[in-house]
Amino acid sequence: MSETIHPVTQAALAITRTTAEQYQAAHARSLADPDGFWRDQIGRLDWYRAPTVMGNWSWDPVDIKWFEDGVINASWNCLDRWAEADHTRTAIIWEADDPKAKTRRLSYAELRDEVTRMANALVALGVDKGDRVTIYMPMIPEAAMAMLACARIGAVHSVVFGGFSAESLAGRIEDAQSRFIITADEGRRGGKPIPLKAIADEACDKAEAAGVNVEAMLVIRHTGGAISMVEDRDHWWHEIRAEVPATCTPEPMNAEDPLFILYTSGSTGKPKGVLHSTAGYLLWANLTFETVFDYRAGEIFWCTADVGWVTGHSYIVYGPLSAGATVLMFEGVPSWPANDRFWQVIDKHKVNIFYTAPTALRAIMRDGDEPVNRHDLSSLRLLGTVGEPINPEAWNWYHRVVGKGQLPIVDTWWQTETGGALITPLPGATPLKAGSASWPFFGIEPALVEADGSLIAWTPGTEISGNLVLLRSWPGQARTVFGDHERFTQTYFTAYRGRYFTGDGARRDADGYWWITGRVDDVINVSGHRMGTAEVESALVAHPDVAEAAVVGFPHDIKGQGIYAYVTLNAGVEASDALAAALKATVRAEIGGIAVPDHIHLTPALPKTRSGKIMRRILRKIAENEFGALGDTSTLADPTVVDALIEGRLNR
Ligand code: ATP
Ligand code: MG
Repeated sequence: MSETIHPVTQAALAITRTTAEQYQAAHARSLADPDGFWRDQIGRLDWYRAPTVMGNWSWDPVDIKWFEDGVINASWNCLDRWAEADHTRTAIIWEADDPKAKTRRLSYAELRDEVTRMANALVALGVDKGDRVTIYMPMIPEAAMAMLACARIGAVHSVVFGGFSAESLAGRIEDAQSRFIITADEGRRGGKPIPLKAIADEACDKAEAAGVNVEAMLVIRHTGGAISMVEDRDHWWHEIRAEVPATCTPEPMNAEDPLFILYTSGSTGKPKGVLHSTAGYLLWANLTFETVFDYRAGEIFWCTADVGWVTGHSYIVYGPLSAGATVLMFEGVPSWPANDRFWQVIDKHKVNIFYTAPTALRAIMRDGDEPVNRHDLSSLRLLGTVGEPINPEAWNWYHRVVGKGQLPIVDTWWQTETGGALITPLPGATPLKAGSASWPFFGIEPALVEADGSLIAWTPGTEISGNLVLLRSWPGQARTVFGDHERFTQTYFTAYRGRYFTGDGARRDADGYWWITGRVDDVINVSGHRMGTAEVESALVAHPDVAEAAVVGFPHDIKGQGIYAYVTLNAGVEASDALAAALKATVRAEIGGIAVPDHIHLTPALPKTRSGKIMRRILRKIAENEFGALGDTSTLADPTVVDALIEGRLNR
């Protein structure tokens, strides 16, 4: 694995407000004097009553509070305070799926006015403080408005990604006991309409059969496609909007009141309704946004995630807007109308900071450098990634081709449950290593443990690996699983009592850098040698013909576990036995004989969650010949991929 250190470049230095020494001193202080550190940060937000208590938490039993006597409203912090300071400042630039469609621009004042109207509409429909409101929307500004309208009146939003099926949506409505839905007639992605309202109707029927009655649905007219409205239940936003008052006083919320529920993507089992509270989450989103992305007033920040994922919550809505930033919101996909769409949009809107996922980069890399080089990317000054370990191959491509060898990349490790980035470089302060999330953010104390829970000591010059845990709480930490605190405790705090278990494996190198190696479930034990699947995947992807690889273990009579590699190839490359043999040779050269896959399954596609993560759980079952026990596949982006994989199964 490549461990070249990319020193802080001139380009990075020009933007940094922090040096490595300053980072280290501030991080040390955040651990030594957390109360003092956080007291210095609370002024980032406007409060009705500023908190006097900072962290007050226990992980055994699990009871987490931050800023508990503070009173605050998230929508005020994201809207009014910026609108009042500068009513022309742009909050959202919206780029449609169709490149020929008109760009929408909303100032902070316009966004505030829309949000207050939508908040009044929700009140008119019967939504009370504490009620759960399900948001099932395309990537249009109204999605952010809906979230902030809930926050304004103290309702708890539950955003469900607009690509989920009626089944998945119904399950989330039922779990949240949500009696209200905000949706749109249709969404549009890659030139195709998505019948959101029709799917929401079906989900309501399913939820009703399960005992949860949806009382009101607010419908945004987006595409103008034909839909049916249920009398007394469904209301057009544009009609109700004309009737409600244009102002709405924000509801003062206790710091610990819930802000939202978000169901995790489900790559490891039944989705959990992760619950975030108001002040701690907002402060974390705000601080990490400004620091990790080194945001400067007036710059254009683009996070390509969907608002249906936590990344969209924290780095399209709450982080940037609470910081008065200008965000780009994109309705479409990277591959339509052509695979240069990202770069075309960056060029068109002069984007300064670009934050995307390794899966998107790997898909784009397949077609080489030309689609990138076709566009002027000189407005960019910082790049970021999130969602999966980024293999050095993809990192280097991103750095060289998109970043012209100059721009820092912030590889941000975090989870739905963490609210925002926890292990991440700070641009300009952190010399980068391709594929390493590098250093812990302020207030974060990671550690590695053995399977039995014993801490693995690290000293400079040594290298350790193990299961990644966190030793102390931070403001952005999730507080519970909605309606099931016991599951929260069981999932995160029971494997290693009194510690938060991330579910991820990691190693810490001789320089102290953290490398996330993937989920612990994905560690393979071959003849007693433990290795992270990410490592083998990186080696495979290093071959010039490979686009993407997913590696899982399967039971092996002699070795205990064998290695089964699913591989997709670059555009125009033919699958062949010779190529499979060449890939084995690559792994042998990169890692060693022990890591050579027993089977290389060349496939046109891999099963992915709607957020673009490879569903290894399913790949593992297929490799184990357990086709009957694939579990919940409803969150897959394209379930037909699974049939093709079963068809091509190699070691029957
Ligand atoms: P579920 O918990 O339902 O299985 P999920 O874990 O995929 O879903 P998220 O909370 O969106 O849902 O993803 C968090 C996980 O993504 C992390 O635990 C880690 O495995 C991976 N991840 C995120 N960012 C990075 C990163 N920069 N480097 C390595 N891994 C990352
Ligand atoms: Mg997870």
